[in-house]
Amino acid sequence: MTATAGPRLLLKRMREIMAERIAAQSRLDKIVTLIAANMVAEVCSVYLLRPGRQLELFATEGLNKAAVHATRLKLGEGIIGDVAQNARPLNLPDAPSHPSFLYKPETGEDPYQSMLGVPILRGGRTLGVLAVQNRTHRLYGEEEVEALQTVSMVLAEMVVSGQLVDLAEIDEGLKRDRPWRGHGTTFCEGIAMGRAVLHEPRVRVEKLIADDIAEERFKLDRAVAELRAAIDAMLAAEDSVIAGETRDVLEAYRMFANDRGWLQRLREAVNSGLTAEAAVERVQNDTRARMLRQTDPLIRERLHDFDDLANRLLRHLAGKADTSAHDALPTDTILFARSMGPAELLDYDRTKIKGLILEEGSPTSHVAIVARALDIPLIGRIEGVLEQVEAHDWVIVDGEASDLFLRPSHEIREVYRHKLALRAQRQAAFAAMRTRPAVTKDGEVVRLLMNAGLLVDVPHMEETGAEGIGLFRTELQFMIAHAMPRLQNLIDLYKSVLDGADGKQVVFRTLDLGGDKVLPYARPLEEENPALGWRAIRMTLDRPALLRYQIRALLAAAKGRDLDLMFPLVAEVAEFKAARELVNRELDRVARIRQTPPRKVRVGTMLEVPSLAYQLPALLSSADFISVGSNDLMQFFFASDRGNPRLDSRYDLLSPPMLGFLKTIVDAAKARGVPVTLCGEMAGRPLEAMTLIGLGFRSLSMAPASIGPVKQMIVGMNAGRLSAFMADLYGRSDHSLREQLRQFADNENVAV
Ligand code: PEP
Ligand code: MG
Repeated sequence: MTATAGPRLLLKRMREIMAERIAAQSRLDKIVTLIAANMVAEVCSVYLLRPGRQLELFATEGLNKAAVHATRLKLGEGIIGDVAQNARPLNLPDAPSHPSFLYKPETGEDPYQSMLGVPILRGGRTLGVLAVQNRTHRLYGEEEVEALQTVSMVLAEMVVSGQLVDLAEIDEGLKRDRPWRGHGTTFCEGIAMGRAVLHEPRVRVEKLIADDIAEERFKLDRAVAELRAAIDAMLAAEDSVIAGETRDVLEAYRMFANDRGWLQRLREAVNSGLTAEAAVERVQNDTRARMLRQTDPLIRERLHDFDDLANRLLRHLAGKADTSAHDALPTDTILFARSMGPAELLDYDRTKIKGLILEEGSPTSHVAIVARALDIPLIGRIEGVLEQVEAHDWVIVDGEASDLFLRPSHEIREVYRHKLALRAQRQAAFAAMRTRPAVTKDGEVVRLLMNAGLLVDVPHMEETGAEGIGLFRTELQFMIAHAMPRLQNLIDLYKSVLDGADGKQVVFRTLDLGGDKVLPYARPLEEENPALGWRAIRMTLDRPALLRYQIRALLAAAKGRDLDLMFPLVAEVAEFKAARELVNRELDRVARIRQTPPRKVRVGTMLEVPSLAYQLPALLSSADFISVGSNDLMQFFFASDRGNPRLDSRYDLLSPPMLGFLKTIVDAAKARGVPVTLCGEMAGRPLEAMTLIGLGFRSLSMAPASIGPVKQMIVGMNAGRLSAFMADLYGRSDHSLREQLRQFADNENVAV
């Protein structure tokens, strides 16, 4: 048999048999006879997986026919079981000497020495085994192995069509029609219910056997060329915003799309008589089977990339290379992707995206930042989710418990429908309070501001009734950009933010880069302790040109209006003064070039390094305002990494030392008449916010979604009574004061 004519002829004959109007079992019987003849083998048998992880002999040419439907092997038992379990071919010139060899007398297979078994795979899962045997010792040629694998793919198609065995009996996860529950990490809270949309749609291969091989070869080559060009274009796109991990993935794709081994295998599969689509799937089957066996995470990752690439290639073959962003989407879309760039998410119609699920991702990934800005519930790091989800599946995203439900039962859907209705009611109640001032029962007025970082955040001010933006994290724009933003782009952005704020206060924080906030276009710095490293104001004071560039943009954007700016991670007053000096120099420049200056410039600082609190008198006489960053302050106060989940509940902000420390700060600022805000995450949690008010804070900045719940808490509390209650707490030695504070809230009927 020649390298290609054999399988081609075989496939041609198989197609004829598939077209015959006969029962499935007869079809299978004919196929094994055909394969045996074509491969000059004395035996050809098909085993299929049955319930109980048993492989049942379904058809044979050459073995005892009486053994059909009688002989069964466990997964992993015998050579057949080995092939099935490991999902890889075994080519054995001397099968009886193989350690897995198991003799089944009823089959009458004793005279056969050599054996070639290949798994029958679909979607990387094993459905059965196809095997040929010969009396003589022979090593089957590579092309014979290929041919048998190709044929097994056609058999797989027959199996999943349900003609031979009841589909429900086959491997559990094969048909994606059962409920599935995944658990991951919540990157943006919220609950959503809707229909699955795959960011990169899958293509179902309908036609397996080629009519015209030359044409299939041409189609494959054209699709590969298109795929490469598309990847190059994505990487080169100046205007598209590709960041961090997305760029890495694309770089890997580019490398793999030029991988000679991969292309060679695709071409061979086409030459053996498959359509171009089926050839891609055939190679993808191998990749997936290897992926399931692989335990080394790095190799798995690589195989995953190949799998993704195969999906992309299939889409090019089907003439559907785009993502789903511009398709007609359901109004309750839950988007699924392996990973995604921020710009890709922004490409979708926001009003239709109710949730986002990523197989990978991290809380600091840029897509997570954008999802939070858009308030889209997002769960990431759900392993294997893309293997389980099918387009149009019902989906529930529970960002509170970090759970994902695919195809949930009616009962679970009802539970969540109820939950969603309650949430909607609560949201409506918060919305109704939008214009109501946040005043405590005893008349204390609290300013509620919101945190933001992108232009898409700004409309939340109107929606939530926030009195301004207490923290605008300017680094986010730099992080999601593909290249260093140009001065004019920055000016335009800051101007749009100020326009959107419509006269309300916006506090711009200058670049807080370094640590976990890395620019995709800057060389990452190797540091032993990045959180304590060359970051934020330290970096920008050492690179004053960068800080001045940003200040220049802010001054230009705020022409004739008020400008509030502050510096991150200041550890000593001298640092603050040095940074302020740069602002003065830029103001001098504005005067020199006769540019209209802002009406008023207020320069403040974040207080998030404990050392700065030991210079409060000096600080408060040189800063126009201060903003306590409790996220970093907490991490440095307790020497406890804010990103380490193992330490999440180790220390409590609501503890005597932390609250005592915060009280010193707020008391000093008030005594000096310097405005003080707290803008860390704690400000957005009702119980913590209540405590902050008890400490004396009257200005809090938080995520937009927290404004409603915090305001509701405020209007129900009495600040004076709480302060009196807390007076006795600071000196205690408890690990946490959370319970006492919660008790206070319960007794006073405060909604925390
Ligand atoms: C903080 O540290 O509390 C803060 C608000 O800044 P970021 O979370 O951006 O570090
Ligand atoms: Mg900080």
